[in-house]
Amino acid sequence: MRLKTLEISGFKSFADQTRIDFLPGMTGIVGPNGSGKSNIAEAVRWVLGEQSAKSLRGTKMPDIIFGGSSDRHALNRAAVTITLDNSDHYLKSAYTELTISRRLYRSGESEYLLNGQTCRLKDVTELLMDSGMGQDSFSIISQGRVAAIFNSKPEDRRSIIEEVAGVYKYRKHKEKAQRELDRTMGDLHRVEDIIAELE
Ligand code: ATP
Repeated sequence: MRLKTLEISGFKSFADQTRIDFLPGMTGIVGPNGSGKSNIAEAVRWVLGEQSAKSLRGTKMPDIIFGGSSDRHALNRAAVTITLDNSDHYLKSAYTELTISRRLYRSGESEYLLNGQTCRLKDVTELLMDSGMGQDSFSIISQGRVAAIFNSKPEDRRSIIEEVAGVYKYRKHKEKAQRELDRTMGDLHRVEDIIAELE
């Protein structure tokens, strides 16, 4: 699996449609301070489902929409699309190429698309779960994150290791199964009570 292309439009400092092709090998992005390098990394995190405006250096999610500059009006929509080469089927999908898109309107309306089809955030999250590309994975390390990981609580650090090791998904499934089991036990106790009352 390989990151192929990133298309950004109306996201933070990228008012115009901007396309970045990631060729095989290593890609470096250079530019003066404030030119938008971190915004590119944030666009990747955002399209992959980032839910925290704070971690994108905003106070609310619409802050990521281009807010205008001295010579341009603010925009009403941010859109990011990421294209992944999945010819090795590293992501559990039959597609050899996957596009994930996310759009947000100033009204608060938002949508996700998988290969051009509207989908839920859950579909994106499940596709990426345990791939190392999930929201809290190590694939993108922003400024200050290393210090934050060292200073985090042991249980938070454990979640990070579980995601990397690929067991996070199973822990989530186990928690869900446990909740269903508890509910069923509750129902059984209720049935026993009713039977006891009838006897
Ligand atoms: P540094 O090298 O200092 O870390 P950088 O190249 O990583 O800088 P970014 O932090 O990505 O730069 O970009 C910051 C710029 O993005 C600022 O000029 C800021 O005004 C602009 N910016 C952030 N959010 C928006 C927005 N919603 N609308 C317009 N511009 C924005």
